[in-house]
Amino acid sequence: MTTTCYNYSSDDFEKKYTYGKQLGCICNNGKTSFRLWAPLCECVSVVFYKSGDNSINDEISREKMQRDVNGTWIYSCDKSMDGIYYLYEVTINNESTLACDPYAKAVGVNGERAMIIDLTTTDPENWNNDKSPLVNTYADAVIYELHVRDFTIDKSINAEYPGKFLSVCETGLVNSSGEKAGLDYLKDLGITHIHFLPLSDYATVNEAEDGGYNWGYDPKNYNVPEGSYSTDPFDGKVRIKEMKEMIYKLHQNGVGVIMDVVYNHTYDSNFCFNKIVPGYFYRINADGSYSDGSGCGNDTATERSMVRKFIVDSVKYWAVEYHIDGFRFDLMGLIDIDTMNEIREEINKINPDIILYGEGWDLNTDVTKEGVKLAKQSNINLLNGIAMFNDDLRDALKGNIFFDDSNGYISNNMKEKENIIRGIAANPTWTNDPLKVVNFTSCHDNNTLFDKIEMSNPDITFKKIVEQNKLAALIEFTSQGMILMHAGEEILRTKKDVKGNYVEDSVRAGDFVNSIKWDSLHIKEYRDTFEYYKGLISLRKQHECFRMKSADLISKCLKFIEHSNNNVVMFKINGELCGDRSKEIIVAYNPCDSSEELKLSDETWTVCADKSGVYPDGKCSIRGSYTVEPVSGFIAIR
Ligand code: CA
Repeated sequence: MTTTCYNYSSDDFEKKYTYGKQLGCICNNGKTSFRLWAPLCECVSVVFYKSGDNSINDEISREKMQRDVNGTWIYSCDKSMDGIYYLYEVTINNESTLACDPYAKAVGVNGERAMIIDLTTTDPENWNNDKSPLVNTYADAVIYELHVRDFTIDKSINAEYPGKFLSVCETGLVNSSGEKAGLDYLKDLGITHIHFLPLSDYATVNEAEDGGYNWGYDPKNYNVPEGSYSTDPFDGKVRIKEMKEMIYKLHQNGVGVIMDVVYNHTYDSNFCFNKIVPGYFYRINADGSYSDGSGCGNDTATERSMVRKFIVDSVKYWAVEYHIDGFRFDLMGLIDIDTMNEIREEINKINPDIILYGEGWDLNTDVTKEGVKLAKQSNINLLNGIAMFNDDLRDALKGNIFFDDSNGYISNNMKEKENIIRGIAANPTWTNDPLKVVNFTSCHDNNTLFDKIEMSNPDITFKKIVEQNKLAALIEFTSQGMILMHAGEEILRTKKDVKGNYVEDSVRAGDFVNSIKWDSLHIKEYRDTFEYYKGLISLRKQHECFRMKSADLISKCLKFIEHSNNNVVMFKINGELCGDRSKEIIVAYNPCDSSEELKLSDETWTVCADKSGVYPDGKCSIRGSYTVEPVSGFIAIR
């Protein structure tokens, strides 16, 4: 691969070669047309194939493309070529290479060849009337972070298509004891959105065989669903139809769909865009080395006009064609703020309710232009309508993720109590806007919450892990901001290998480690924990006071209360001021091994949560004081 040090980021290049309209292949109304951006090519052809399998030599024909404006090449014909596969043959410096279309909307097995597709043939019945579930603001979202395959691959669930798109939306699924599993279970839990780990085509799993596993942060074709989640990865249409079917059914069941998108790097530098315009897609230094802030080997040069366009086009495409309700940007701290703000602007034209958030980590990357600002936490004020993960609260709750023996507030460690208080008010050091904060305790990365508690607290009992897990959940669900939970956190998910060793990074660990174990619901402590989360979600939905819309409102309504034991965190929220159905709400966390007596005002309070469970409709009435048991939380309203 040539890693040309061509000055792609110069004003001259951008002025001459920025093309603003539609790229890729369009096939509808009996016509097919192609437009490819390939400014350095001497010659480009489109090559047609019968199948999508790159190991078969079944070329049908090839057509020379014509040079057009701004470095683009075009070819069109007056017939529908729906279902025909294609590649581009690009010639640069007399060397010819075959490349997939970066704008491919359909591909064959393993994403090697693009397919021409008339997308109207892929829509489920009634797709035009499909409606996304509504949330008023980001703070109303309760997001469940899930991997397609993990959800239904375990033997403990009676899925018709284990591990596939189609079983994510299957209703009537149960575990081997007959308890609700799959989608029915999620509806029972009460989450508003599923945030899926990458759904677009990724490289590592061989789609031609069953049983492969990967999270999907190894992007190959950005605008095509992953084939291993379909029932037939060889036919380019099937994965599209099945993913749309899944989204349609999830919407019908009141569940929104958020996609994890990975624009910050590609699987490898063999990416088709890099074959067509060598070196343009990435941040490459003068010595030919690739910038590697992602740790994946090739940071995307999002600041270049045609990379930015590629990303913006891709997000828009998923929103329009697949009715996606939100996007989670992987390593967003590597993407520049102008690209992120352009995405927000363009998405607003489609549906302003679409949720955007990402990982605003501060990473070391070599941008290709002067003055580029990145979408990291310290620049959050420069971004509009885009939230970021709050790792401060995460680590304060359970301990630093990089140190196995580091524990947190739920284990009665006060080291980062300040970040608990800040997290509750959606006021981390980098923003105080609750609609820009994603509070979470755990996600797919690092150890599960259960494992982290177990690892960081030597000799801890199972009973106490469960108590600490519930306390973490109560803190999270009574915090302002958006809420995201890791799938299975509510049933004490663990990731251990066959030898019982903790798996911190389960990206390739397979089904045994990763699958959701539905039969655990049959065990009392697991069922209780599920019920506890379910109660917290219900309570949060009922009370506006946990979902305030501005920093101003939070500072007016939420007051911390001193307690004689400094380890106890306690606050009250004025419900009347923030439009809640209750006058006042009081919340306390007791991570200590001793019971703590709370002094309450003299009115009658209704207990809504204590160590025994969560009671959205109230457990009992109290006056004057209440004893909060060790390692538990407390919520009361009046
Ligand atoms: Ca794939």
